[in-house]
Amino acid sequence: MNLVFLGPPGAGKGTNASEAKNHFDIPHISTGDLFRSHIKGGTELGKQVQAILASGDLVPDSVTIAMVEDRFKQDDAKKGFILDGFPRTIAQADALSKMKNLDFVVNFVLDRDQIVARLSGRRMCKSTGRTYHILYNPPKVEGLDDETGEPLIQRDDDKPEAILNRLAVYEAQTAPLIEYYRERKLLLDIDAAPSPLEVLATLIEALKK
Ligand code: ADP
Ligand code: ADP
Repeated sequence: MNLVFLGPPGAGKGTNASEAKNHFDIPHISTGDLFRSHIKGGTELGKQVQAILASGDLVPDSVTIAMVEDRFKQDDAKKGFILDGFPRTIAQADALSKMKNLDFVVNFVLDRDQIVARLSGRRMCKSTGRTYHILYNPPKVEGLDDETGEPLIQRDDDKPEAILNRLAVYEAQTAPLIEYYRERKLLLDIDAAPSPLEVLATLIEALKK
């Protein structure tokens, strides 16, 4: 199963991918997670993209495409994948079409108020990358990761200024991919507003068809 998860920031792509990857036994490839792990590891690429991520702008296509191409070389991606957060531009989608055939592009649909509510309450464990929400998916102990007990952080780009920029970037650069994939008969719209369990159940059911 070769899948792309598309949708605005905060729609629940990562949350659903981390469950669906077990269901389908395929890797979850998040370009945001890949960039964040380069930043954490202090690599050259990490230094190059740190300020871009903090502002909510997009990393240049050439850099992003090369990173995905490289990730596809790992063995686990041969049996399928969930791409989360890639492609985000038409140029990236064109490049992807030369690398892989897709089965579905899942479009997570959520209105703007809910997007802002989800992003501003999102918290993350820096070492595991696990994601929570202060109201909708709180950790067992406030402010601490369930597994490691480490303090949760708020991503720089989940702060108000960066959120507004990311929504504008999404509308201008990524939303056109909805029509791009609809025309190619790959798009599967999923209402992302219900509870996490309901969204996941709808998603898995829809992918069986
Ligand atoms: P994305 O990967 O699309 O940016 P996330 O999966 O990180 O989105 O989800 C954004 C925030 O919303 C997180 O804090 C997550 O816990 C929360 N969340 C995810 N799915 C739901 C849902 N169905 N209902 C309420 N909150 C959700
Ligand atoms: P979210 O799902 O909450 O929008 P991600 O974790 O997917 O956030 O991405 C975080 C940031 O990483 C983006 O705002 C952008 O700076 C960078 N990024 C991730 N994927 C891409 C991509 N495909 N193209 C360009 N930049 C990207």
